[in-house]
Amino acid sequence: MIIVMKAGAEKKEKNEVLKRIRELGYKPHVIHGTTRDVIGAIGDERGKLVLQSIESMPGVESVVPILQPYKLASKEVKKEPSLVRISAAVTIGGREIVVMAGPCSVESESQIIDSAIAVKEAGAQVLRGGAFKPRTSPYSFQGLEEEGLKLLAKAREITGLPIVTEVVNPETAELVAEYADILQIGARNAQNFALLKKVGQLDRPVLLKRGMSMTIQEFLMSAEYVMSEGNQRVILCERGIRTFETATRNTLDLSAIPVLKEKTHLPVIADPSHGTGNHLYVAPMAYAAVAAGADGLMIEVHPDPERASSDGPQSLKPAKFAAMMAKLRLIAAAAERSL
Ligand code: PEP
Ligand code: MN
Repeated sequence: MIIVMKAGAEKKEKNEVLKRIRELGYKPHVIHGTTRDVIGAIGDERGKLVLQSIESMPGVESVVPILQPYKLASKEVKKEPSLVRISAAVTIGGREIVVMAGPCSVESESQIIDSAIAVKEAGAQVLRGGAFKPRTSPYSFQGLEEEGLKLLAKAREITGLPIVTEVVNPETAELVAEYADILQIGARNAQNFALLKKVGQLDRPVLLKRGMSMTIQEFLMSAEYVMSEGNQRVILCERGIRTFETATRNTLDLSAIPVLKEKTHLPVIADPSHGTGNHLYVAPMAYAAVAAGADGLMIEVHPDPERASSDGPQSLKPAKFAAMMAKLRLIAAAAERSL
């Protein structure tokens, strides 16, 4: 249920409402709006009628049910788009398109630092790089782990770019959060509920990728897992789903972008690297994603893709990435966005 407070409701009145929600066995989540606050009361759907009694409390305008199964992620609770602040210089969800770029995996000091310098020069605002890698095969490169996190931190120190890196299990989530500015939940873990709850308890923005066989509703339910633990800073990432098509690694579901924009206030970015699996198709799909309304992009860039430990075939060389960024500026401007 959503408790809509009156525009001029006093703090005392709001606190009484929060107290009452807790007494009734629900978890309150305050969402600060531009003119008024709304409070989401989250809990067992079956007992929601008892919440209706809150409508008669001072300062309360109305109590309305949230119809979607996802609540905090829903536009019903918050109509204005959410801005997710990453650093003093980077916020996702506003007018500016945010590009996160870098190699699939952190491989060495020179590899990540060269990548960081190159992507920054081309205009990327966030550096990506996996230190813990969720690989389909146990025999594939699993990442440099903490050493990789240290190298990412070094690249951040040199370039000033905030870093996004993947968390693969609850046990190492806190370690990753010590280094990362954004915690990435990968497609393979998008319904790892223990992991979603864990990152929901950490004080870091979460980049949640869509699972490869997830419906949009299931995707939003995963975001809800993070948000219901108290972390509202969630960024959604469409990274392609598995279909019958084999000419591309995945099918980048661009229609998910306007659909998500209609259903949720959370920022939405697209990853055409994993979405297509082929460096030749990355730039066109990046342009299309921005035209479709994406708030940002995640792009794999590697100084030497032929020798990459993972995802070389879909990685752009720095010069190709810079050319893509130049053209993307035109597309962004046409979409009334900046880059
Ligand atoms: C990645 O970003 O390198 C990655 C493993 O992505 P995904 O989870 O989308 O496959
Ligand atoms: Mn990758």
